[in-house]
Amino acid sequence: MLSERAKKIKPSPTLSIDAKAKAMKAQGIDVVNFGVGEPDFDTPEHIKEAAIKALRDGFTKYTPVGGIDELKEAIIAKFKKDNDLEYEKDEIIVSCGAKHSLYNIAQALYGSGDEVLIPSPYWVSYPDQVLLNDAVPVFVKTYVKDNFIVSPDALESRITKKTKALILNSPSNPTGLTYDKRSLEAIAEIALRHDIYVISDEIYEKLVYDGFEHISIASLNKEIKKKTIVVNGLSKSHAMTGWRIGYTAGPKDIIKAMTNIQSQSTSNPTSIAQKAAVAALTGPQDFTSMMRTEFDKRRRFLVERLNAVRGVSCIMPTGAFYAFPDISKLYGKKAGSRAINSSLDFALYLLEDAKVALVHGDAFGDDNYIRISYATSMENISKGLERIKEAISGLK
Ligand SMILES: *Cc1c(COP(=O)(O)O)cnc(C)c1O
Repeated sequence: MLSERAKKIKPSPTLSIDAKAKAMKAQGIDVVNFGVGEPDFDTPEHIKEAAIKALRDGFTKYTPVGGIDELKEAIIAKFKKDNDLEYEKDEIIVSCGAKHSLYNIAQALYGSGDEVLIPSPYWVSYPDQVLLNDAVPVFVKTYVKDNFIVSPDALESRITKKTKALILNSPSNPTGLTYDKRSLEAIAEIALRHDIYVISDEIYEKLVYDGFEHISIASLNKEIKKKTIVVNGLSKSHAMTGWRIGYTAGPKDIIKAMTNIQSQSTSNPTSIAQKAAVAALTGPQDFTSMMRTEFDKRRRFLVERLNAVRGVSCIMPTGAFYAFPDISKLYGKKAGSRAINSSLDFALYLLEDAKVALVHGDAFGDDNYIRISYATSMENISKGLERIKEAISGLK
């Protein structure tokens, strides 16, 4: 018999759509994959070289559980330089990807029945990680008219004695939108007044557009820094999803608890990936700028054309590599005998009929939307858009 805990959890829907698209591709079907949640660029050469050198040098043994000092120092320097945040080594832990960082936080922080505020639409793993730790996800709906920024009043109205934390994600996956300083200040004020933690997932920090400046909520003042746990990683900024390096900065007691948990589960992140991460953080950053420039071009191309499609409306994202169009005007229409009444109906119609893979908004908590990743070539974006347009014109 499986545990109650295991029964509460579903596989990550983004990974399963991606798997389905890849399986169709393997059968020789020409699928345009807008489902991907990782950069389509290869890890830069100098980062790979650092891992190769680590291998050749025999750096292949256990390291300290929470990461090597050299990497912690590089992370501390990054926080100082990019976020004007100062941390000590015992306020930093390196984990096996930012998803693992978030999981360790959940284990360290949540108790049975604790409530965790999650603005919706949300990244798919947040609610399930809360559930896996016997806590309760409490969703706070956000709206396109507010740029998908959570309203302070709505947030506050959901706070109870059991509220432990708020999970914030800016730039956001799936909406591609970003929190400005004023919105962060309003949230920080509420978090402090109610004494709740803010878990700030800043993994897309480097991918922002139109001159937007990313600010970490932890950097607003000394008080909120003490209540904020910042999560970041190398997966998105340096195209290193397969290397599994994420990191957390926060209060010493939480970092210590996370390190203990990690010591009894995965132990250290891969030794050679840690050396690669040092190279990523301390080496030239021109790769990240190049990637941002490229994503920016695709973003404008994709969103302008999406808005020209009948029944589709899409806000211009300011970060990450996702567009999040509203397709609810198409609901109630039919393609032959196939009725489109939900984001999943639409996603399956596109995958099976038009050979375009994307993720239904329902997976992120809002059934009126779909998520399109533009971490794919301009050529694929063009081709995918044509197919989407064609498929929608087939709806009656
Ligand atoms: C990709 C992603 C992560 C996790 O990335 P890792 O590969 O585990 O470092 C965390 N949060 C969001 C919002 C993401 O999109």
